[in-house]
Amino acid sequence: MIPLFEQYPLLKEKIPYTQLGTFPTPVRHLKNLGKKMGIDYLYLKDDGLSSTMYGGNKVRKLEFLLGDALHKGAKEVLTFGFAGSNHALATAVYTRKLGLKSISILLAQPNAWYVRRNLLFSHVCGAELHHFRNEIAAYIPTIIILLQKKVRLGKFPYIIGPGGSSPLGAIGYVNAGFELREQVSMGLIPEPDTIFIPLGTMGTALGLSIGLKAAGLKTRVVPVRVTDEKYANKKKFFKLFEKTMALALSLDASFPRVEISADEMDIQHDFFGEQYACFTEQGMAAIDLLERSEGIRLEGTYTGKAMAALIDHLRRNGARNEVILFWNTHNTRNFSDVINEIDYHQLHRRFHRYFEEDVQPLDKHPSE
Ligand SMILES: *Cc1c(COP(=O)(O)O)cnc(C)c1O
Repeated sequence: MIPLFEQYPLLKEKIPYTQLGTFPTPVRHLKNLGKKMGIDYLYLKDDGLSSTMYGGNKVRKLEFLLGDALHKGAKEVLTFGFAGSNHALATAVYTRKLGLKSISILLAQPNAWYVRRNLLFSHVCGAELHHFRNEIAAYIPTIIILLQKKVRLGKFPYIIGPGGSSPLGAIGYVNAGFELREQVSMGLIPEPDTIFIPLGTMGTALGLSIGLKAAGLKTRVVPVRVTDEKYANKKKFFKLFEKTMALALSLDASFPRVEISADEMDIQHDFFGEQYACFTEQGMAAIDLLERSEGIRLEGTYTGKAMAALIDHLRRNGARNEVILFWNTHNTRNFSDVINEIDYHQLHRRFHRYFEEDVQPLDKHPSE
């Protein structure tokens, strides 16, 4: 049973949950990188291994979101993201596993090898993929027509917002806070002072912040912004915080009334670069450094930027006795065997540009 439900049985009774992943995810001591950087207590929590099918941070959210979709009798799930969205892919993988179908509304983004891989894997999973070039607002009429068609067929989809970062999705990371506390009490890792984690649609960093506090840990979360500030900012963070707390408390009044002050949320803005999914020199250098010292490979859109913030923190502050945990949110399961034989011409022609145009110059790892 997941640690959150063990602690709060009322939540277990009230929240439909479907297990998709393999938990707890491992924690690793980054001994070599720590030695290089002059810090003894440097660790990584590997949510890249959250599932054998497709890992990463979306699995924890989808256990709650798809649990709810099943409970509501949905047959199809509609979600949103950019073209290479890990969230849209995870949704495609796990809806198929549960016998549901997924529909993804995808927006244009900078090209990268992972965009190609994710599109092909989503396609293999039977996802219905739609591509739009501009802001989602311009396509609302098109989306309404799509939904009207579904209504006529009697298949109104369960809707999951971008990144799965609704209050219910964030509960997956509230649980992750309790999971980490178990690993601390088992002696697998000392209680972290600081956790570095990417900040996209915010459900991950937010849920984790609530979970750690509710579990009684003193750990500080440092979210590293990797999306445009209009999606990831303090105001939105606290709005989602209020809603997530309200959800938890409405289901179980004994859930701790956690508080987070605005000062505490030290969002890092300096590692974002030019735009979402545009890799940075600093991010790629951090990826190479981790790979050379520990053999773990991150990616340029999310985790590389968060690792760059961690490295910068170590360079500036020394931090010899600080216990620092890097939370890896990116899938590390190789799925190249599944997509090897797939011809991109099977995708709608609007996606062909990602296969025909060059990837961005800093993207050098086709096989990852
Ligand atoms: C989606 C994603 C994130 C961001 O998580 P949010 O909950 O959207 O903030 C971080 N890392 C990876 C690899 C992701 O796919």
